[in-house]
Amino acid sequence: MTIQSVRGMPDILPEQSGGWLFLEQTVAALFSSYGLVQVRTPVVEETRLFARAVGDVTDIVEKEMYSFDDRSGESLTLRPELTAGVVRAVIEHGMLHNQTQRLWYQGPAFRYERPQKGRYRQFHQIGVECFGFADSTIEAELIELTDHLWRALGIRDALDLEINSIGSVSARESYKTALVAFLHSHFDSLDEESQSRLERNPLRILDTKNSSTQALLANAPALEDYLTKEDSAHFEALCLSLDQAGIRYRKNPRLVRGLDYYGRTVFEWMTDSLGAQGTVCGGGRYDGLVQHLGGRATPGVGFALGMERVVLLMETLGVIPAQMQTQADIYLMIQNVQSESTMRSLAREIRFQIPGLRVMTHIGGGSLKSQLKKADKSGADIGLIIGEDELKTKSVVYKPLRGGDQETLPNEEVVKRLKLLRDM
Ligand code: ATP
Ligand code: MG
Repeated sequence: MTIQSVRGMPDILPEQSGGWLFLEQTVAALFSSYGLVQVRTPVVEETRLFARAVGDVTDIVEKEMYSFDDRSGESLTLRPELTAGVVRAVIEHGMLHNQTQRLWYQGPAFRYERPQKGRYRQFHQIGVECFGFADSTIEAELIELTDHLWRALGIRDALDLEINSIGSVSARESYKTALVAFLHSHFDSLDEESQSRLERNPLRILDTKNSSTQALLANAPALEDYLTKEDSAHFEALCLSLDQAGIRYRKNPRLVRGLDYYGRTVFEWMTDSLGAQGTVCGGGRYDGLVQHLGGRATPGVGFALGMERVVLLMETLGVIPAQMQTQADIYLMIQNVQSESTMRSLAREIRFQIPGLRVMTHIGGGSLKSQLKKADKSGADIGLIIGEDELKTKSVVYKPLRGGDQETLPNEEVVKRLKLLRDM
């Protein structure tokens, strides 16, 4: 029997990888234009890091982690998200003493979930974590960054932004007490999942997809009423900054995040275009996390986007540039093997003179007709053919492959012509 990939851990094949590269290249350029620098942390961490950072009573830690004992009996876990590892790293390397940090990351994460469209067991996140900024300006900057990214990718119109303040820790504790009291008095009307969340993680009930529980929540105490004066001022300042930047958003008083460590600002970008897995990016403020993991109290703000969902959205909307989905710009062909070294030296010349141009040489012989078929399939716009006559006269047939007349050019003209084409 042949061996297959692990369930929920798909390969990303060349048909899709163009979209992935487009996302990665766009992110790398854009994020550095906002002064962010990249950090890379290991895929595996000690299990207790996630139990502590993400929270014991979250879905992730309760049922989604890939944990195992290594050969010395230490419990390790494949990271279910990347924030915990980044926070561990900045503490471990003393990166928070008298300095701020603006970091970004990219890489795989692992969760044992039921695989479906937009939900996998190995998936990939791109995210940002900023440390040392107490002011809501940083939330505005990061939300503006995400808005800018969607524009650069061509998917802005398919996305909606929701924001909320879940208050500081003290506000949330008093709210929790009020919410739990209210829900207890309606315990029998709650759906089963919400009943089980009531003791362990009551705030997540606000997130429920169950419509009768949702109806019940309409009369529940509102988190908004429990915010401190400072919490409200922080949120209003953020809303003002977003207004000034011209970024549309919807205040959703029910928006909470799955992870434990958030406080004050939370936000999500979602889409209707992907079915059930509509949340593409989520983030917020986590002022308590650094201290919770043993560092000196340091405010933090960040977000993470799911690369699979962003790529799916780009595919659905058809916004991936054609260039990212083809293999070559120029395809070189030869009529007989004697021309091979000439073809290779011409290709070498073009590649050195015009960096970034994608140049493929035909390899493997065959008729000119079959070579032209391969040239067409490569997506190249221009074919360069060295026939018997051309070999003698040191020239090349320059053949537009998407319409237009072919012509014969002396070898030394070819690079000049291709440069002209590039500059057009
Ligand atoms: P969801 O509500 O969809 O389960 P989440 O709240 O668990 O999402 P986060 O922990 O906030 O997600 O992760 C940030 C982003 O990572 C999500 O918005 C989503 O785009 C993506 N993501 C999360 N889990 C998966 C998964 N199993 N497969 C693919 N993408 C995922
Ligand atoms: Mg989840």
